[in-house]
Amino acid sequence: MSAPTAATRDAVYRRDARRCAACGVMVLTFQHRRAVGMGGSKNVPSPVDGLSLCGTCNAGCEGAMQAQALRYGWKVRRWVTHPERVPVFYPLEMSWFRLEGTARVRISHSVAMEMGCSVYGAEWLYWHEAIA
Ligand SMILES: [Zn+2]
Repeated sequence: MSAPTAATRDAVYRRDARRCAACGVMVLTFQHRRAVGMGGSKNVPSPVDGLSLCGTCNAGCEGAMQAQALRYGWKVRRWVTHPERVPVFYPLEMSWFRLEGTARVRISHSVAMEMGCSVYGAEWLYWHEAIA
């Protein structure tokens, strides 16, 4: 995964209302939902691979916020080949969305649980404390 094109970056920022999806500040960076390969993969990220986050939250996704980032779909496991199948939670709106091209579509909590579960199985339910 390499850097996004300027058009993709702008589409992601526009989709996310030009705010950090996690904390709402308006100074943005492009969060790669899929890990950027150490080998410098040639895959160029698409809008569903990206999320608007500020620098602090972007760095946090690789550190202290990692569990939350996976739970909220801000980050996906490396093996996830279709990141659009993992829903994204926007805490400022208290809502789940599925990413679709350059758009996002609000979905219910139960649909988000079904989507996440179809990708991650029981691990997703565990993250969301839907199972003990
Ligand atoms: Zn932030």
